[in-house]
Amino acid sequence: MLTPRRLIAGNWKMHGLAASLGEARAIAAAVQGRPPLARVAICPPATLIHRMSAALAGTPVLLGGQDCRPEPSGAFTGSISAEMLADAGAQLVILGHSERRRDFGETDSLVAAKVSAAFRAGLEPIVCVGERADERRAGRALAVVLAQVRGSLPDEADGRDFAVAYEPVWAIGAGVTPTLPEIGEMHSAIREALAARFGEAGRRAPILYGGSVSPANAGEVLAGREVGGALVGGASLTARTFVPIIDALAVLRPSAS
Ligand code: PEP
Repeated sequence: MLTPRRLIAGNWKMHGLAASLGEARAIAAAVQGRPPLARVAICPPATLIHRMSAALAGTPVLLGGQDCRPEPSGAFTGSISAEMLADAGAQLVILGHSERRRDFGETDSLVAAKVSAAFRAGLEPIVCVGERADERRAGRALAVVLAQVRGSLPDEADGRDFAVAYEPVWAIGAGVTPTLPEIGEMHSAIREALAARFGEAGRRAPILYGGSVSPANAGEVLAGREVGGALVGGASLTARTFVPIIDALAVLRPSAS
């Protein structure tokens, strides 16, 4: 059976100690044995990747990092390379999250260099884009997001597996989401841009929605036009809230890829 490329990924951000491995096990136990409607991933803090990889061995749940540096190694105190994430057991990595763009001044070109590093290490990047509230109010949301898509993906993404996460900055952790037509408009525009630039790879890449996805709104959001899954922050921290989001996929049409 073709494994769907659709992806539901949990971004644990700076949450999680060894005691949280129990939640990861509970998430894995819930998805194990279900039809593969989507790939499911947890992106814990780097300190947990290795132990979580052991805890989830033999389950279908994938593991991701939350950032990496472009270089494979070097004198970069406190940083982690894509190779190190892969070595610890990760298969994916979130790159260009708005919290990193905001807190560390990450630019599109730096994100593109990190995406190249992820490919080099055999990781699938989840490339985050999204407009701020003031940019949306000024009618610039589409232009801002499409510029980020252009600038944050290197040419070598052609032929590779990658995902894009549309995360309006104002919706993250805020308990509000864009309207379904707004999500559909943005995802369709991103799809057009990806397909025009990368052909088949651009048509295949799942475009995740992220920003206050919860058990209450997941069914609606995931049914949106060109929505290929979700990047989930707060609600991914417990099986009680993450599993119903994964389950929301069950009511949708079968994945095309
Ligand atoms: C995120 O930070 O990637 C995110 C989507 O957070 P939340 O679901 O908590 O809004």
